[in-house]
Amino acid sequence: MIQIPRGTQDILPKDTYKWQFIEDRLHEIAQNYNYKEIRTPVFESTELFVRGVGGSTDIVNKEMYTFMDKGDRSMTLKPEGTAPVVRSYIENKMQHDVNQPVKVYYLAPMFRYERRQKGRYRQFVQFGIEAIGVEDPLIDVEVISMLMHIYQSFGLKNLKLYINSIGDQDSRAAYNQALVDHFRPSIDEFCSDCQTRIDTNPMRILDCKKDRDHALVQNAPRIYDYLNEESKIYFEKVTENLDALGISYEIDYNLVRGLDYYTHTAFELMSDAEGFGAITTLCGGGRYNGLLELLDGPQETGIGFALSIERLLLALEAEGIEIPEPEGIDLYICTLDAAAEATAGQLLHKLRAEGISCDMDYKHRKLKAQMKDADRKDAAFTIVLGESELKTGEVELKHMQSGETKKVSMDDLKQLSTLIEENGS
Ligand code: ATP
Ligand code: MG
Repeated sequence: MIQIPRGTQDILPKDTYKWQFIEDRLHEIAQNYNYKEIRTPVFESTELFVRGVGGSTDIVNKEMYTFMDKGDRSMTLKPEGTAPVVRSYIENKMQHDVNQPVKVYYLAPMFRYERRQKGRYRQFVQFGIEAIGVEDPLIDVEVISMLMHIYQSFGLKNLKLYINSIGDQDSRAAYNQALVDHFRPSIDEFCSDCQTRIDTNPMRILDCKKDRDHALVQNAPRIYDYLNEESKIYFEKVTENLDALGISYEIDYNLVRGLDYYTHTAFELMSDAEGFGAITTLCGGGRYNGLLELLDGPQETGIGFALSIERLLLALEAEGIEIPEPEGIDLYICTLDAAAEATAGQLLHKLRAEGISCDMDYKHRKLKAQMKDADRKDAAFTIVLGESELKTGEVELKHMQSGETKKVSMDDLKQLSTLIEENGS
């Protein structure tokens, strides 16, 4: 038997309403913040991610689904959304769009070859936003406030927002040197990845999952002490404006982004709900002032975040929040014989065109079983069609909740659909 690939999942019909509910909410909130959807391909040139995500990252080193196409080009299923958006921005010269800054969002599957774990899939759906073309603490605050708005709109309470500033490129040069000086003498005690990172990307040592409890990580130099005046002022404006919005946060000096193109604001949202499991990061984001240039684009700056629906669902589950089940159908037609079945099919055909959601039995079950089926489908109304209804052309429309019935002519579609629409749940 052929099985589903490891680390992927089928979202079954009984569960899709949860996804649709979340997706609708995300589209709606993005709309409120005036972000427009952008759709980029599922695969891109591998080169885009090698350059745009960075050769020293886990994503590029270990997690990409890369393949050669029949034209011998190396392609990669997208592992993240920012590089494709930036590629599209550059290619479509969006710096010249009349609407500035360019505010976009995406909602799309991402692919990473990862070890399977709770909250970690090989195909997962990310929602992310990017605001490109402005560098201002207020837009950073907008991005963070949207993120909080999303999670709070579902009623989630156990949320912890961590933020940090990693300064501008000047601030970081001095900081990287301080980290090298700090870690170099004892680098043997660190994992093999960190032993490489000290040369390629010392900041990432602070971010290492294996070495996070090492004393030298705990008492490492703080980026804050290396921020220049400009970067400090930028960070203060971000925190002041978060305060003004009543958004609570904690500053985490070890929250870093290891790549050169990241600057200033970095943030992460965690769940501290009990029973969430080992992985508690819901969302990560930050400012990337060097990414566009790195991809041969204009000197524009951007900021964004990405979250996955899989982890949002885990957070909801951990806090016992249920997504409302969808309403049932408007009408179920029960049938007593083959002639009635054919007529029911015709009636359904007409009612559906009127926007009524309706169904019937196709399995020739007994009336009692059909009624059960109507109940299972949560039908607001039922009609029983038999010989006498076919003869008179009149049916009894029964409102299931109240038990009230009304005689209606089958030909009077207007009356039928009006009655259903007025009384339906
Ligand atoms: P992690 O440290 O958990 O591996 P990451 O730093 O790789 O996360 P990002 O690349 O910042 O994650 O992606 C943003 C968000 O996407 C994460 O905060 C998380 O919610 C989600 N995410 C990342 N990888 C996965 C995955 N394999 N399965 C489900 N969700 C994921
Ligand atoms: Mg990861």
